[in-house]
Amino acid sequence: MKVKRLVTWGGITLGALGMGLAIKSLLPQRFLTDDWVERKPSQPLDTASFPEVEVSFLRCGSITIPEPIAVLGAFTLAPLVMAHSAVLIRHPKALFLYDTGLSSEIDTYLVDQSLFFRKTLGHFQLEQTLGSHLKERGIERSDLDFVLLSHLHWDHVSGIPDIRGVPLRINRVEYEAAKLCLLDAGNGLVQRLLGDNPIEFFDCAGPTYEGFRSSFDVFGDGSIILVPLPGHTAGNTGMFVNRSNGPRLFLLGDAAWVSQNYLRPTTMHPFIWSRVTSDDATARQTLIDLHYYALRHPEIPLIAMHDAELQEKFMKSERHIQAVGRYT
Ligand SMILES: [Zn+2]
Repeated sequence: MKVKRLVTWGGITLGALGMGLAIKSLLPQRFLTDDWVERKPSQPLDTASFPEVEVSFLRCGSITIPEPIAVLGAFTLAPLVMAHSAVLIRHPKALFLYDTGLSSEIDTYLVDQSLFFRKTLGHFQLEQTLGSHLKERGIERSDLDFVLLSHLHWDHVSGIPDIRGVPLRINRVEYEAAKLCLLDAGNGLVQRLLGDNPIEFFDCAGPTYEGFRSSFDVFGDGSIILVPLPGHTAGNTGMFVNRSNGPRLFLLGDAAWVSQNYLRPTTMHPFIWSRVTSDDATARQTLIDLHYYALRHPEIPLIAMHDAELQEKFMKSERHIQAVGRYT
C-alpha cells in the first residue's frame, strides 16, 4: 500500500515537474541588454547621392502560427503570419532578387520529405509563385541579372526552379558550411533546388559597416551593401539598400523571424530555435547587435524574410513611392 502511494505521489510530482518545465519553456529568457548604452539615434546617412532603387517584396506563401512559437515570452496566443517571400530589386546597374520565395514546382520537391517536416517547418499555404509574380510584372528569366541568396535553407532557394539559368550569388562561407551537411540533407533537397544554375561566390571581406564586422559593396557605389549576420546559418547575409528615392532598408535574411526577435530581443521558442539555428551563441549575439542597431537607427526598417507584417507595411509606402516615382 505504502509503495503504491509512493508511486502515485512520484507520478504526480513528475507530472507537475513536466508541466512546470513546459510553462518555463514559454517564459522569457534572461537576455540582458543594458540600459546604460546610449540610445540616441545616430546621424542618418545623407542618401541624396545614391541611385534610385525600387524594392518589392514578392510574397509567395505563408503560414499562421501562435506568436510564442516565433517570439519566446510573448504572452499572447494571437496568430502571427509568417511569409515566404522573394525581394525584387530594380537598381540602375542590375535587376536582381534577394532570396527566391517559392516556385510552381515546390510540391514535387517536398513530396519525398518526412511527414514530420511536411507538417511542421515544411508546411505553408502557397499564395503566388515566384514565376507568376515575375510574369505579372512582365519580367522574363533572362531579364534577371542575378539572385543574392541570404542563406541556403530550403525555403530561401525554393523559387529557383522558376528561374533556371539565372546566376546565384552565394556567400562563400555559407556554401562551404552547407557542403558539410545542408546541401545533402533531406535527399539533397537544397542541392536539387539549386539545380544547375551558375553559382558565383562573394566574400564579405570589405571594411566594417555601421558597426557590422565586415561588408561587401555589390556595385562599388555604396548603394547595396552586404553584411554578415551569422548564427542562424554560418553565412546568413543581410543587405542594406541605400537609395535616394525612398527610406534606407536593411534586409536580415533569417537573422530574426519577426521584428520582436530583435526589438525585445528574444529568440523563437527553443523547440524551433534549436532546429533551425546552426550556432546558438553566435545567433544570439547577432540578435543583440540588431537590437542596438534598431535603437540607433529608428529611421531604417529592419525586415526579416518571414516578417509578413513589416513586409506589408513597407510595401504600402513603397507602392506610393513607385506610383509617384519619387520619395515625398
Ligand atoms: Zn527561412
